[in-house]
Amino acid sequence: MTLDAAPLADFADPALHAAGLYIGGDWLPGSGIPVLNPSTGGVLAEVADASPTDALRAVDAAHSAAAGWRATPPRQRAEILRRWFQMMTEHAEDLARLIAMENGKALADARGEVAYAAEFFRWYAEEAVRIPGEFRHAPSGANHILVDHDPIGIAVLITPWNFPAAMATRKIGPALAAGCTVILKPASETPLTAYAMARLGAQAGVPPGVVNVLTTAQPGPVTNAMLADPRVRKLSFTGSTGVGRVLLAEAAKSVVSCSMELGGNAPFLVFDDADLDAALDGAMIAKMRNAGEACTAANRFYVQSGIHDAFVAGLAARMAALKVGPGTDPASQVGPMITPRAVQKIDRLVTQAVNLGARLVTGGTPLPGSGYYYPPTVLADVSPQAEIAHEEIFGPVAPVYRFDTEDQAIALANETEYGLAAYVYSRDLSRALRVGKGIETGMVAINRGLMSDPAAPFGGAKQSGLGREGGVTGILEFMEPKYFAVNF
Ligand code: NAD
Repeated sequence: MTLDAAPLADFADPALHAAGLYIGGDWLPGSGIPVLNPSTGGVLAEVADASPTDALRAVDAAHSAAAGWRATPPRQRAEILRRWFQMMTEHAEDLARLIAMENGKALADARGEVAYAAEFFRWYAEEAVRIPGEFRHAPSGANHILVDHDPIGIAVLITPWNFPAAMATRKIGPALAAGCTVILKPASETPLTAYAMARLGAQAGVPPGVVNVLTTAQPGPVTNAMLADPRVRKLSFTGSTGVGRVLLAEAAKSVVSCSMELGGNAPFLVFDDADLDAALDGAMIAKMRNAGEACTAANRFYVQSGIHDAFVAGLAARMAALKVGPGTDPASQVGPMITPRAVQKIDRLVTQAVNLGARLVTGGTPLPGSGYYYPPTVLADVSPQAEIAHEEIFGPVAPVYRFDTEDQAIALANETEYGLAAYVYSRDLSRALRVGKGIETGMVAINRGLMSDPAAPFGGAKQSGLGREGGVTGILEFMEPKYFAVNF
């Protein structure tokens, strides 16, 4: 099957329906997991349901390919990644439509994701040939210290449904650049994108067994089986903090190195001296990219008293003007949520906030119909006691809170166990940086609604994660430093 042969969006190619497990370069037929279209509730396809035994076959395949891939010169690994970038770019529209179908996000968001996702392959093609080392004098003067970096070994990569392409490439890119072979387990809600990318990878020249992909309805037992295999040396996980905690405990049993990209609860701070229009533009991006289903999504808007009312009015007008509809409809700006359960959760958070005195400025009721739609919603005067102030909303709801002083804003921003991302709007750059330093997150966007960049270290503090993806350091998550004490 080639992606050229038929537009994925039409699902005209039966090979795609039958997307089985991708192990050792072979497609093994399988079924058992229906993939739903959140825009309609209909079934798009059915994918294989891997067992723990299948997962160990994938570890075998990754192990068989490991020595060859590790020995492949960095330049050659780089060129394969660069070709994969190229192929994703050539097939960007097919991939975007596929993402819009299985995830439901609006096509514009899906196109943005494909471009962002492909960039990880280009960035890590460039980093593969720049793997760092160190050479120093020992302080004693007795010898030298030489530090090399080896590929860490077989890596298990687990990704969520909200960015089906980008969360996979953000792991595969650095792992392959480092010389590791991998087993990717995508979320069962959005496996088709991962399988389509694996096909492109094979066409780009990724050798059999270097990238293996499996879907499963029993992620716990399947992952545990792989983590218990001594050949597996790395777990790179993106998903909720709850599942991250479970996996850290499991990985501890065999002391597997873990990188964790977990949940968020991003504060969005707007000071009186902010450019109101710029803050509203940024708020719309920070809140509504992916209809709010992003770990970096602005989850709590803290607005200083002097600008508060104008901000709420401006935000409500912009939110109310958005067109909600099926992801694949080019006119849609906001697609459906991933599942009916996600809609129920958002509805519960909004209802509880309103019962505690929040003012519903726009939106606030799930939309009828067969898809899983929730309208863009703005809540003002939200009680800090409301659950919505503490939970990751993961939907198109903007709760706005008022503050008076800078210290108060920082304290409110930090009132959470999460520490992934924060946004600060102020025309006074020194204030924005001072506030940014005070906020306990791994990332701060200043006068911008978007921070994700393959060339920057992405990751969280506190219970939002461990380690960083992207940037110069992302490749080191897949490498083991080796120190030589040298006399010469
Ligand atoms: P999730 O934790 O439910 O699932 C993530 C992945 O883990 C899926 O592939 C799932 O099948 C798998 N999984 C679930 N239980 C497992 C188990 N016991 N063992 C092994 N794997 C298991 O998260 P989700 O609902 O898919 O994604 C949303 C969450 O992801 C949000 O909390 C969001 O903030 C977070 N997220 C974080 C980042 C980041 O970079 N920090 C990026 C995107 C999403």
